[in-house]
Amino acid sequence: ENQRVFNFSAGPSMLPLEVLQRAGAEITNYQGSGMSVMEMSHRSKVFQKIFDDTQAKFRAALNIPEGYKVLFLQGGASTQFSAVPLNLIGTTGKADYAVTGNFSKLACKEAQKYGAISVAATSEDKNHTYIPAQEQLKLDPEAAYFYYCANNTIYGTEWQYVPETGAVPLVCDMSSNILSRPVDVSKYGVIFAGAQKNMAPAGLTVVIVKEELAGKELPYTPQMLGYKLMIDKDSMNNTPPCWCIYILGLVLDWLESQGGVAGMEKIKHGKAKLLYDAIDASRLFTCAVEPGSRSDMNVVFRTGDEALDAKFVAEATAAGFTNLKGHRNVGGMRASIYNAMPVEGVEKLVDFIQAFDKAN
Ligand code: PMP
Repeated sequence: ENQRVFNFSAGPSMLPLEVLQRAGAEITNYQGSGMSVMEMSHRSKVFQKIFDDTQAKFRAALNIPEGYKVLFLQGGASTQFSAVPLNLIGTTGKADYAVTGNFSKLACKEAQKYGAISVAATSEDKNHTYIPAQEQLKLDPEAAYFYYCANNTIYGTEWQYVPETGAVPLVCDMSSNILSRPVDVSKYGVIFAGAQKNMAPAGLTVVIVKEELAGKELPYTPQMLGYKLMIDKDSMNNTPPCWCIYILGLVLDWLESQGGVAGMEKIKHGKAKLLYDAIDASRLFTCAVEPGSRSDMNVVFRTGDEALDAKFVAEATAAGFTNLKGHRNVGGMRASIYNAMPVEGVEKLVDFIQAFDKAN
């Protein structure tokens, strides 16, 4: 009854066991401070050190160049759907959006409040089972930015290339694949991600901003959404999500022990390959996502028979593989295999899939 399950939740999702254990060991008295990180002032020396160390570790993990600021904010990735246009669209009044799933569609819809939005590409014609190729992007050289979502959590697709947009800054939602692979940050204007998949508990949103793009927000931008203010205040215009920042620091230590993002890229790709190979080799299961567009983080699959899908999910849950039911937009199953999912969890799920395939 004290057994941990292999939790395939799309987010919030598994955290590394070592991180939970360390947080547990420090929960009543953080390094002799006599209090929990949850209880300390964000203006205290001891918390400032946690903040600074986490910033430094995050920058090192993604090799973030000078000229970029890392912000630790709140409001979830969804708040950035508003913050991005509010901060950036003012320069030309228009922006390009690639709509490849639920969250880029929501971002695109929100941006329409603030300027002229052009859908530069959409995969809606095939129910978001693929990522458009570079040649398919209809790019406006006067766009204030080009927006895309690097990994589509619901549809199980992932961009395998960085769009070429010339002088137009790239804005990217990396909520569901950040820290799973190296990123050339210098190619981007803004990168943002909610923490609750690969980084920390829900409540922290990490935003990487090219500093020269900040300070041109629309005049009615809520102050808390202005990048310039948060840059000037080092993310502490108000109380930041202290606990989440602390956990992110622990996760980054763990990531380092896995070989950093380069190490993680190999590990996560190996896990995804195990799963896709098992699905492709099975009699019952299929993955509708085109091979060159498949996500290494969210693997969607189905039998084509809803009752059989439900049976699979129920039996898997009973066997300790939880949260495999697909999103209601897609149906079927989804295995979210973020950084913290152990290889063992995927290997055992593969065994389970193979046994189910034989038995049904
Ligand atoms: N973008 C992506 C890619 C997501 O997967 C999610 C949530 N699952 C969101 C945005 C929305 O994030 P939040 O709940 O933090 O607002």
